[in-house]
Amino acid sequence: MAQEIDLVEKVRAYDQAADLSLLNAAYTFSMKAHGSQMRQSGDPYFSHPLEVAGILAAMKLDPATISTALLHDTVEDTLATIEEIEQNFGGEIARLVDGVTKLSQLDVTSSTQTRQAENFRKLFLAMSNDIRVLLVKLADRLHNMQTLKYLSPEKRARVAQETMDIYAPLAERIGMHDMKDELEDLAFAELNPDARESVLTRLDYLREQAEDRVAMISAQLLETLAKENVEAEVGGREKRPVSIWRKMERDRSSFEQLSDIVGFRIVVDDIPDCYKALGVVHGKFQMVPGRFKDYISTPKRNGYRSIQTTVIGPGQHRIEIQIRTAAMDREAELGVAAHWQYKQHAEHADGTQYLWVRELLDLLDAASNPEEFLEHTKLEMFQDQVFCFSPAGELIALPRGATPVDFAYAVHTEVGDTTVGAKINGRMAPLRTQLRNGDQVEIVRSEAQTPSPSWETFVVTGKARSAIRRYRAKQEQSQYAELGLAMVKKAFGDTGTEVADDALASALPALSHDTLEDLYVAVGNGTVSAQSIVETVLPERKIKPKSRLPSFMRKRDAKGGDHAIPIRGLIPGMAVHLSSCCHPLPGDRIVGIVSEGKGVTIHTIDCDRLEAFAESPERWLDVAWDTDADIPEFQVGRIKAVLANTPGSLSTLATVIAKNNGNISNLKIVDRNPDFFEMRVDVEVRDLSHLTHIIAALRIDPAISSVDRIKG
Ligand code: MN
Repeated sequence: MAQEIDLVEKVRAYDQAADLSLLNAAYTFSMKAHGSQMRQSGDPYFSHPLEVAGILAAMKLDPATISTALLHDTVEDTLATIEEIEQNFGGEIARLVDGVTKLSQLDVTSSTQTRQAENFRKLFLAMSNDIRVLLVKLADRLHNMQTLKYLSPEKRARVAQETMDIYAPLAERIGMHDMKDELEDLAFAELNPDARESVLTRLDYLREQAEDRVAMISAQLLETLAKENVEAEVGGREKRPVSIWRKMERDRSSFEQLSDIVGFRIVVDDIPDCYKALGVVHGKFQMVPGRFKDYISTPKRNGYRSIQTTVIGPGQHRIEIQIRTAAMDREAELGVAAHWQYKQHAEHADGTQYLWVRELLDLLDAASNPEEFLEHTKLEMFQDQVFCFSPAGELIALPRGATPVDFAYAVHTEVGDTTVGAKINGRMAPLRTQLRNGDQVEIVRSEAQTPSPSWETFVVTGKARSAIRRYRAKQEQSQYAELGLAMVKKAFGDTGTEVADDALASALPALSHDTLEDLYVAVGNGTVSAQSIVETVLPERKIKPKSRLPSFMRKRDAKGGDHAIPIRGLIPGMAVHLSSCCHPLPGDRIVGIVSEGKGVTIHTIDCDRLEAFAESPERWLDVAWDTDADIPEFQVGRIKAVLANTPGSLSTLATVIAKNNGNISNLKIVDRNPDFFEMRVDVEVRDLSHLTHIIAALRIDPAISSVDRIKG
């Protein structure tokens, strides 16, 4: 087939060493895979990948990129699989084809919202971890735009808008001005045909008038430069309809002058000559103030380098001039692709590269050959961000490491607060999962859910973190208030009176609090004692501190005293804490100790630590468990186990605990000798009977010589 020979010859012309059998194989594979598929135009489908390959061959790209172009639609649109591609063409090409396929699968339809367009452009860059993926995708889009007329009007408008919003700016971002111009012009023709038509008509007229002038001015510039011994090429380039239109929109002006439609370009050998040429031009012609820009000493972010100036040139015509070297000229047209051209790399070692590909170019210097370089190239841009989709297709940009919880809070605080689970790409996933580019995230919500303090350990966005903290603080306040109210009631109960809200309210000023709520919070967190409130409200009934331990201490039943304050919903770090000395469990007889500003710490009633509070009975609080058997909360129980120092004894311990539904949260060897070793084991259990059960099961095992619960 003539087309095959054309393509191979084109590549051969710039790369003598190209693996032609690879190209031929990719050609044949793709042609077979696409078979009798047709394009809308009525052409065989295969003509499309072939044209795309041709566009890239015109940019003199490496054989892997050309092969990828030939294969780029096989996985998406035919029965071929990525595994087959890998078997036939190796890992590099398989990766590239896979990358292009993934980009093609992104649904960009919601990009019509312009605020999303920038996110999409970033997503494309972030997903193109090899820039050649993006080059193939851009060439693919260019050919689709060239054959746009065969599609339905709605589809045409959508594709053109996408091209304008996403692809053309992307091409510009990576410095490919020719690609950008062509994409933009094709999109402009579709989106605003009338405007383009009127620009073209006007251009025709101006061109007729100006034709001689362009040649005359070019000749004069060349002559002026030659007189000063600057060797250069000079030419006039007509501006694109779309950029003329934009300028007209921006400046609300019509276009009349030569400088509106033609730009002149002086191309010289090296950078010193650029400045020499500038000197000659400015010396001979009057410069228009405010138009001079030196992008050679300070390149644009996308790597664009040129000196730009406007002068009153030959024949008093106002003209715009770009001055640059031949290498800059090629780069300005091809952008990043210039760096991927076959064996062009050596010319780019002058240190004035695209700022954001500089890292790649450093890699290039380090890599022993261009192939290795290409293989290891990773686009570092936007690697600190991930881009994910909502089920409705909205794109959410998050910092790297973000989780479904961050995603939920990025959507809306209310969504975050009520998150119970997440589906990533349709599958349930843990909330701490780190999201990846292109993930579709569906948040499962429940109105009954509240933010979990544990989320704070894995969220990465400030929005999520502050929302969790805010909620936590609110929770804490209400826990303190609830606790405080119970403590106040109890204190009054001890005196045989009831609390009356109005009596309390009238005592507020004396207690230096504004509201009852504030007062309860203060009691709950221990800054105000319940007893001092009783003394303020009922000054006639001074309460004498009771001797030594409070009366409820004498009752030893597990339910606590008559006024025991129910303890439930224990959230670590909140109003109520379980002490880490005795590890109280539901079922243990417990007592609370109030600490100023910290709330209540729960100990088992026989904890050794309690001795320290014997002199301050006002800090003791009668509490009782109030747990719900249906919703077990797991608490840590601590045991001491002495094991025979033999192989397998430790695993026996672990197995017995696991079999009895205990979860080991911490394990420490306390003592070790030739025969035995002593372990301290923290086990998460439901309650005391659960722990007792585990201890009994351990005691039965012959490998374990003794087991005891540790308290205090
Ligand atoms: Mn395609």
